[in-house]
Amino acid sequence: MSDFIDELNDAQRAPVLHKDGPLMVIAGAGSGKTRVLTYRIAHLMEQGVDSFNILALTFTNKAAREMKKRIATIVGNSEAKNLWMGTFHSVFAKLLRFDGDKLGYPSNFTIYDTQDSQRLIASIIKEMGLDKDIYKYKQVQNRISSYKNSLITVKAYFQNPELMEADAMAKRPRLGEIYQNYVDRCFKAGAMDFDDLLLRTNELLTRFPEVLMKYQDRFRYILVDEYQDTNHSQYLIVKALSDRYQNICVVGDDAQSIYSFRGANISNILNFQRDYDDVAVYRLEQNYRSTKNIVNAANSIIANNKNQLEKNVWTSNDDGGLIKIHRSVTDAEEGRYVAGSIFESKMQNQMQNGDFAVLYRTNSQSRAIEDALRKRDIPYRIYGGLSFYQRKEIKDVLAYLRLIINPKDEEALKRVINFPTRGIGQTTVDKLVVAANHYGRSIYEVMDNLDKLNLNINAGTQRKLTDFVTMIKSFQIMNEGSDAFTLAEHVAKKTGLLLEFKKDGTPEGIAKMENIEELLNGIKDFVEGQKEVADATGSLTEFLEDVALATDMDKEVEDDDRVALMTIHLAKGLEFPYVYIVGMEEDLFPSAMSMNTRSELEEERRLFYVALTRAEKQAFLTYTQNRYRWGKLIDAEPSRFLEEIEEQYVENLTPVNDGYRYKSMINKDIFGEVDKSKLRQVKPKNGTPPSVQKPNENQLRKLRKLKPEISSPAKPMDLDPGLVIGARVNHTRFGRGKILNIEGAGNDKKAEIHFDQGGIKKLLLRFAKLEVL
Ligand code: ATP
Ligand code: MG
Repeated sequence: MSDFIDELNDAQRAPVLHKDGPLMVIAGAGSGKTRVLTYRIAHLMEQGVDSFNILALTFTNKAAREMKKRIATIVGNSEAKNLWMGTFHSVFAKLLRFDGDKLGYPSNFTIYDTQDSQRLIASIIKEMGLDKDIYKYKQVQNRISSYKNSLITVKAYFQNPELMEADAMAKRPRLGEIYQNYVDRCFKAGAMDFDDLLLRTNELLTRFPEVLMKYQDRFRYILVDEYQDTNHSQYLIVKALSDRYQNICVVGDDAQSIYSFRGANISNILNFQRDYDDVAVYRLEQNYRSTKNIVNAANSIIANNKNQLEKNVWTSNDDGGLIKIHRSVTDAEEGRYVAGSIFESKMQNQMQNGDFAVLYRTNSQSRAIEDALRKRDIPYRIYGGLSFYQRKEIKDVLAYLRLIINPKDEEALKRVINFPTRGIGQTTVDKLVVAANHYGRSIYEVMDNLDKLNLNINAGTQRKLTDFVTMIKSFQIMNEGSDAFTLAEHVAKKTGLLLEFKKDGTPEGIAKMENIEELLNGIKDFVEGQKEVADATGSLTEFLEDVALATDMDKEVEDDDRVALMTIHLAKGLEFPYVYIVGMEEDLFPSAMSMNTRSELEEERRLFYVALTRAEKQAFLTYTQNRYRWGKLIDAEPSRFLEEIEEQYVENLTPVNDGYRYKSMINKDIFGEVDKSKLRQVKPKNGTPPSVQKPNENQLRKLRKLKPEISSPAKPMDLDPGLVIGARVNHTRFGRGKILNIEGAGNDKKAEIHFDQGGIKKLLLRFAKLEVL
């Protein structure tokens, strides 16, 4: 047996060596699930399984590339090349290129990104004469997307009165028609949106048993990472493909399921054992990534969730530093703190920029952090947000390139038909759209047959339209014998795009021109890189495929030493020595949008668990008292999640004052030196009789189990008038309750409170907002 097996512990080795048949690895963060998947593939290949017969589905293409690299070092490069590995979208886009023709798609179909979809939906709404304030295109797109991910086709939609009624109730009775038109138009344009890549794969595998058999036979071993986040559509594909050989290996962690808003369904994990016979279930418990403090703190957070599988994650790593909590007055100060702290750590611990990550709940939080990092000259990179490929000038070039491959592509055509300007106005385009809809053809086909149609377009404009078609055709001829770079460079010049931005002369214009040059560099790199890939030629089709499915995460330049800034969602599966989680505030994290139900709140908590478990050596949690949101400075309140970490694992860098709320903008950093006259003290409401409520059986049982604890003398302290044992208090979220015990002092002071509604909780007074009743 090969050496690499020794790089696994016993618990990890078992699933790696597991013979045929279904298996599932359910384990906490950092316990080596991804490593197991990688090594299992290498092991299968060593056992003689043909790399051609293995399919691995990962969360990002970058993860797939890294796995492939690791496997290549074990089994050799040439073998590893044949593996089908990547995200669901990229793998099934490839499959649809081979067999999508059975569904009537050309093999060179275009992939519409979200922006393309939204633009198309917006124009359909306009053409249908609907009120755009009621039919908001983004919401409509969202709705259509969720239908597709639940496999609700247009036909299924119109057969389901409940769905139609729901849309009618939401004042959008014509949503079904928009859906219908959207699907027709995409089809006519030879385009699939992201959701189609899964929906059409399902359709293909269901309608064409011979295609299903072909791929079942090809993918005899299927492996899925981050299985907890597969949605229904993805789940069905995996189920269908693995049905024959049942060699399916999934790894995941229910505690890290964070995509239910996109239709991911945690029951996929729970039902796995029901779906397959004789499932072997493996558990891993040892975390190799993080310090004891981080692992334990993360465990204490997730313990607050009711819905979870029992797990015991531990580590033999060092204790490490306590989790540092920092409070600042404004978000700008929060940014300065993070930048300063990174700067210091780099100096003291000889770390690289790439050892640091700043994670946030929403993209808009990055700005303050960016400003501060720039001031300190710390290079950073933002993942997500507006990616390079979504910039206007880049999309313009890509639109021309897309038209070469698929001239029916409606969104690409509309984008560049008059850019750079060539005298083709909106009225003309509208006429073309009407004609295209009338004849059931694409706009390009209409343009290519102008002489046979009578569209009431004047001769001058007709000539311009014909010139455009001729230009695209000349590119198509060139495409036959050129690689993607040669062609793209020619297109950028010939269409006048480069010149357009150059003659603009403004700094923005120059920057755009440079971006196009950057794109061309990227294409050149791509073409070079493809030389190493089996069956690849560096063609334009390959490049466009790569771009359409690239996430920003995938475009990381490896020798680029930068601090990583990203949302927590994007950070899943990654690890960094130092992690800053910023904006630990109520309504931000947990998000105000996600606090309506327990399950939403639990998903936010899992998100926090994911965030914290990215850290290897040290985690920092920061919050601010004031934050600019929606253009206004608002009072912020510390996140409830801060209270939930068992306090022995945290260290507060900025003392917080007990039981008080402050007016904003006063300096509260130095405990004891606060100007009390500026405090807004919560006044005890005298005369309110404490409401008496008997604890229920469950609560009584818990009460009896309570260990007697050493408590500080139950006398009122200076800053806590009324916070004494026996006092009735009100908590902003848990409601009313009675103080059972008080222990600790200063920063560590906490109260054990029996809440009328929610049982007994121990709260750190520095976070808990308690009002004495
Ligand atoms: P996540 O839930 O965050 O996706 P995971 O369970 O997939 O985590 P991995 O990323 O596979 O965990 O492993 C976490 C880290 O621990 C990695 O750096 C990995 O190389 C390391 N690791 C895993 N197993 C071992 C082992 N047996 N010996 C040494 N290091 C290990
Ligand atoms: Mg992993």
